[in-house]
Amino acid sequence: MDAPVLLVTPPFTQLNTPYPATAYLKGFFNTKNIKSEQADLGIEVTLQIFCKKGLIHLFEAIESEYGDTLNANSTRIVALKERYINTIDSVILFLQGKQPTLAHLIATRQFLPEASAFEQMDDLHYAFGSMGKQDKAKHIATMYLEDLGNLIKDTIDPYFGFSRYAESLGRSANSFDELYAALNAPVTYIDVILLDILETYIKRVNPTLVCLSVPFPGNLYTSLRCGQYIKKNYPSIKVAMGGGFANTELRSLSDPRVFEFYDFITLDDGKVQYINNSIWPDYKQANVGTPDYTGLLLDQYISAIEVVNPMHSLWSDGRWNKLTMAHGCYWGKCTFCDISLDYIKTYEPIAASLLADRMETLIAQTGQTGFHFVDEAAPPSLMKALAIEILRRKLVVSWWANVRFEKSFTRDLCQLLKSAGCIAVSGGLEVASDRLLALIDKGITVAQVAKVSQHFTEAGIMVHAYLMYGFPTQTEQETIDSLEMVRQMFETGVLQSAFWHLFTMTAHSPVGLHPDKYKVIKQTKEVGTFANNDIVHIDPTGAEHELFGYGLKKALLNYMHGACFDFPLHKWFDFKTPKTTIAPNYIATALQTPDYNSTTNYKVIWLGGNPVSSLVQRSKKGNQWEEMNLLFQTTTAPLNISVEPAKGSWLLELLQKTAIVETVGMSYAAIKESYEAAGLEDFELFWDNKPITTLYKAGLLRI
Ligand code: SF4
Repeated sequence: MDAPVLLVTPPFTQLNTPYPATAYLKGFFNTKNIKSEQADLGIEVTLQIFCKKGLIHLFEAIESEYGDTLNANSTRIVALKERYINTIDSVILFLQGKQPTLAHLIATRQFLPEASAFEQMDDLHYAFGSMGKQDKAKHIATMYLEDLGNLIKDTIDPYFGFSRYAESLGRSANSFDELYAALNAPVTYIDVILLDILETYIKRVNPTLVCLSVPFPGNLYTSLRCGQYIKKNYPSIKVAMGGGFANTELRSLSDPRVFEFYDFITLDDGKVQYINNSIWPDYKQANVGTPDYTGLLLDQYISAIEVVNPMHSLWSDGRWNKLTMAHGCYWGKCTFCDISLDYIKTYEPIAASLLADRMETLIAQTGQTGFHFVDEAAPPSLMKALAIEILRRKLVVSWWANVRFEKSFTRDLCQLLKSAGCIAVSGGLEVASDRLLALIDKGITVAQVAKVSQHFTEAGIMVHAYLMYGFPTQTEQETIDSLEMVRQMFETGVLQSAFWHLFTMTAHSPVGLHPDKYKVIKQTKEVGTFANNDIVHIDPTGAEHELFGYGLKKALLNYMHGACFDFPLHKWFDFKTPKTTIAPNYIATALQTPDYNSTTNYKVIWLGGNPVSSLVQRSKKGNQWEEMNLLFQTTTAPLNISVEPAKGSWLLELLQKTAIVETVGMSYAAIKESYEAAGLEDFELFWDNKPITTLYKAGLLRI
């Protein structure tokens, strides 16, 4: 299978599904008729280590080199090595979804050996009460692998990590010195396995160009190792490196030693060559092709559950086809975000019909119907259009996406998204404080996020919030108040998952570019010769932000398990904190604000089925009249409405006309016109009354 281009994801990014960059590039090369092959060396290295043969070799290496110096945990694992060697193949098959019945055995906790990773494990009964045996067994099996990973880290390879390797060397390495020294040291245990697989690919593909995708610092070192190996052993092959790490960190690179490992570093999407400004316009999103996963070992990925949290398990569990609805972010204003860079700044949506075409192509190619839209923030209007397209094509898919908590996510839009297979959304609530949200220029308020999350939750779409602490000028009071807001959101049930991040000041964000405006000071003005993005800063007017991390995370973990809502906030911290100033019913009150929408600027769409109609005779106090009864069958229960026969006939016609297979929606004005054209009276009175509002439960949506 000779091909001029070999696309490689070096270890380790993720184990449950391929990192999509090589598939995107392969799709693009297809449009140019350039043959390419791709490989995810992360999953391949993992499978070589975590198999019977791999473990026999691993234990031999550990015993011969470290036999006398093992710590207590490693000693225990080595003592149990036969148990590990005998179970590993079955565990991997189970995590690959090929041996589901093993869950019963694993869940007994008598089958797999347990070491220190299990000490950190949540109380399984408590955490998995509602999640079932498969998830419980996946979590146990993940902890079992974690134990083996810890053994590797404590002995033959201190750089090891399942979704990262030598990350400490890559994370904000202003200077290349440490990485350079590591790369000139003898190869590690993992390097040997990695380079052996790389060699096989090079022999098989015979490329003239190898492209290394480096999204994170956790696969930078291994990409350099690959580059080093290729340049030493195959000097005629050119090596290009690109991806998220290069885009954000390497824009001011000046250390020439890096080019001992790579020939080219590509910035941004890497599809067009820019020399002293652009010489060609970049490709339109419509012309970049459909991601092509051919060649990746799609049935070998491992579904792990590291954290007992339903949203986190979406990230680490299951195979998702990755797509983007739009390039860049349609908002592009948040002051902590890299909004000056192309991947955020250049907003270009893709037509819903093209997206649906790509979804169909990917389903045919991978056999998977789950999609993760990896947009920075998926635009609501495009989500709506895509949902309609999915419903019209009758695609059975499930998908999730990052969003901004926009007001436009109304109850009805969320219902539409759910009907089209949306199962979860994640979005930034950041610092849950209206003053700081304004300073971030997030364009949302806490009350708005609560309301929108309620719409998602009530539609059955899980909501995960990205939370932030330590934004410039954030006081202790604001941190506590932010925690109180989050507490109330979990207590009222509108959030199901969240994660706190400490604010990082990045070079390409407004805060990084204009620190004075945000009252922070850069610790040094020096620009490193290698990676530059995270900037160490001082926040003279803000709190001691780092102090709060542990307490915030502990409180959140409990709230996610539905516990400790009545625990006083100050008890999460081992230092004195102010009392919250947020009213205890702040979020509950925000949620009670009626959804009343006075605008008539909407379209109506009907997702329900055909009702059964019948005419019935009514009588009261000597008066007799006829009514039309319409019986709707929803997935959960039957629903009945009764209307005057003429209005019923008009309504039956309207439902036909607004059915999703017929239309993308009929405007309020057009509906009113058709009602009046049918000779019927008092449209507003009819439209805003019980029969129609009942239909909202049966699938009538205003979008
Ligand atoms: S933080 Fe998110 S919403 Fe804000 S500009 Fe960046 S990508 Fe867009």
